[in-house]
Amino acid sequence: MDQSARAREAHRRLLAAFPDARPALIYWSAFELLIAVVLSAQTTDMQVNRVTPELFKTYADAAALASAGQGTVERIIRPVGFFHQKAKTIIALARRLHEQFDDRIPDTMDALTTFPGVGRKSANIVLALVYGLNSGIAVDTHVGRIARRLGLTGKRSADKVEIDLKRLIPEEQWRSVNLTWVLHGRKTCRAKVPLCSVCTLRDICPGIGV
Ligand code: SF4
Repeated sequence: MDQSARAREAHRRLLAAFPDARPALIYWSAFELLIAVVLSAQTTDMQVNRVTPELFKTYADAAALASAGQGTVERIIRPVGFFHQKAKTIIALARRLHEQFDDRIPDTMDALTTFPGVGRKSANIVLALVYGLNSGIAVDTHVGRIARRLGLTGKRSADKVEIDLKRLIPEEQWRSVNLTWVLHGRKTCRAKVPLCSVCTLRDICPGIGV
């Protein structure tokens, strides 16, 4: 089985394994999703879900967060780690969204990645979940690890892994990769001890580096 066939078959099986895959982050608007995704850097979605109810109760929209006091935001988001930098980032993001974009989350990669704290991964997640766009493949730690173990890339950088995966997986499926592969990474293809003996991909996976 060549690399392209392996990638397509792996994704077909993971789509079948997780037909109702949903993001773990809890959000009620595009604004809340964008902020939650930025806060999720270097931490878990569960940690983010612990702080966002109070954050969005205190600052319901971009205008409110744009004029927030940094100390108050830091106190609320402290459990997610890097709270000093993240507070600065989300206030600056909200200010840009309010002042330059009239509170509307942009629907292009080029515009989204001009926001503080928003790289390709975050932008791909927002474009997929808010606008249903296949702008690219959001590569996080799970997607990168699984792609390397499956022999679909040898790259470490998320942007380079994304380029390799986009060559192998049909464009109309790009936005479904992150949701399903993350669940596979949490449940089976775990970072430290992958459960290869019970994995649905075991007969097609070369297990590179395992
Ligand atoms: S066979 Fe093992 S390394 Fe390959 S995808 Fe499954 S759990 Fe991961």
